Order: sequence, then structure tokens, then C-alpha cells
Amino acid sequence: MTILQMPVRQLGMLVNSFARTATCGERIFALLDLDLAITDKPDAAPLAVTDGVLRFEDVSFTYPTSRTSTIGGLSFTARMGETIGLIGPPGSGKSTIAHLIPRFYDVTAGRITIDGQDIRDVTLASLRHAVVVVQQDAFLFTTSLENNIAYGDPWAQPQQIADASASAQLAQFIATLPAGYETVVGERGTSLSGGQRQRMTIARTLMLRPSVLIFDDSTAAVDAGTEQRIRATIQARAAERVTIIVAHRLNSLMHADRILFLEEGRIIEQGSHEELLAQNGRYAALHRLQMRPDEIKTASGTTDKTSGE
Ligand code: ATP
Repeated sequence: MTILQMPVRQLGMLVNSFARTATCGERIFALLDLDLAITDKPDAAPLAVTDGVLRFEDVSFTYPTSRTSTIGGLSFTARMGETIGLIGPPGSGKSTIAHLIPRFYDVTAGRITIDGQDIRDVTLASLRHAVVVVQQDAFLFTTSLENNIAYGDPWAQPQQIADASASAQLAQFIATLPAGYETVVGERGTSLSGGQRQRMTIARTLMLRPSVLIFDDSTAAVDAGTEQRIRATIQARAAERVTIIVAHRLNSLMHADRILFLEEGRIIEQGSHEELLAQNGRYAALHRLQMRPDEIKTASGTTDKTSGE
């Protein structure tokens, strides 16, 4: 990209983001639901990520509109390179926990720190640069593939865009297009399949090189093959960050380093997949419920009694 192109990309994104806000009524309502008190403190400093340690310290949270607490006294530590899975029944607080990290809401008690810095003491811009929630519904702008991938970073270099596309398994497809990265997508441009759009989102996320990556499988209306590819992509470069997977399906988090099983906003079991199966508690029961017998055998590496073998 030449220096002359950079302001054009920035301007394009500004116009597009206005158009997006104006057309997405639900998003506006979702935004209105957020706590407007969340702003920078007068003395807020940019977040400095060194070791990449995310810590929840006795965190409790009550929604402004709710009388009862959603999260109660929750503590855990996640280190750079670790993948933490959150699972539990509907309403147990998984998404809420994930949304506290980029400060969509502020904790009611306790604190969340990244490398020892309370996330309420750092600038929101630096926090949200470091903490990225993977968007499932890929919104593509009517502009080039390159601009769509580099959406979060107006100063992105072509090599970075190519690397992110390769990790998201898009590079091969883009190579087949006559205009390559300059191909315009959208209304009058090339239309992409659902899977390709999803991979565009992943490429976009990888461009941001987040320190904390949050992936919520709840809105992932994709087939098993695509889900497998997305998971593989999420795991790419996982050593450089903390990955949090909010999961409804065990498949999404079985390979996490640590799984937190939640109930009513509290951790009631935690450990690796194998450790939790050995505990034979709530996680193991969910496992028996969700997996087909042949999957139980493959997934755990052992023969589960419920597999009928
Ligand atoms: P699911 O598996 O259904 O996605 P979850 O475990 O992710 O659920 P949350 O979405 O975190 O659970 O919700 C936890 C509780 O907080 C639920 O009782 C829910 O109704 C409530 N809740 C969620 N969002 C809000 C909100 N914006 N305002 C008030 N209460 C909310």
C-alpha cells in the first residue's frame, strides 16, 4: 500500500462505519443497553501488556437493570498462551464474564487486571485494542478485500494482510480472483459464501494481534467442517495471547488448557477435559448428554461406559 492510499482507506472506513451504524438498528439498541458510565478516568494510561496475564480477582457483577447478581466472587488467572473454556447451563453467566473483559460493563465488586493493571485504570481504546471479541456475523464493506481485512488497522502492510489471510485459510481463494486483494466485495462486487465471510472476520481479528481473544460459539451457525477450520484458526498463534472460548458445545472447548464449568455465576468445576471427566461431575454429565457414543470414545481418548463398549 502506498502512502497516498492510506488516508483513502481511513476515510472509507469512516463513511462505512457511519453507514453501518445507520443501518443496524439492533446494534444501536445493543449499544444503548451498555453502561454509558464506562469512560476513561482523567488519569487513564494506555494498557501496557508485558507478560499477558489476565486475572479475575473476586469479581462480582450485577446488571444495572437487575436485582440479583449474575456473577458472584469469581477468581481465575489466565496466562499468555493459555486457552480457557467457559461452559455451563444457559444463563450461567458465560457471556457476561466475557463481556466484562473489554469493559462492556464494569464489575460491581472485585477487579479484573491485565498484567497487574486494573482494566478500569487504562484507556478504553488501548484495552479494546488488546481485548478482541471475534465477531461471528461478518459485516463486509463495499470495498476491496484488502480494506475489509485491514479494517481494524489503517496502517496495515500488504505482508501482514497476506499473513492474516493465510492463517484464516483465505489466501488460496483470493489467489483465484483476477483482481486478487483488490477485488471489491459487497452489493455490486463479488459475493462471498458464508464460510468465506466468516474467514474474512477471522483474518480481520488476526490482523489486530490481540492479547486477549474472546470467541463465543453461540452465534456460530456453521457446519461442522467450517467450525473445525475456525477452531484451528483460533488456535493459530495462540501462544501469543490468552484465548477465552465461550462455548455451548463441548466440541468447541475440549482442547482448552482449562475449562471452567459455571453455574449461577460461579465456578463449580475446573480442569482440563480429561480431569473433568475423571471428576465425573456436572461436566462429565454434560459430556454424556452432548456427545454421540462414537464421539465420546474419540474425544476423551478413553472408552466411556456410556459408549456401550
Ligand atoms: P447462554 O448460554 O444462554 O448464552 P450465558 O451463560 O452466556 O447464557 P449470560 O448471557 O451471561 O449467560 O446471562 C447470565 C444472566 O444474566 C442471565 O440470567 C441473563 O438473563 C442475564 N442477563 C444477560 N444480559 C443481561 C442484560 N443486558 N441485562 C440484564 N440481565 C442480563
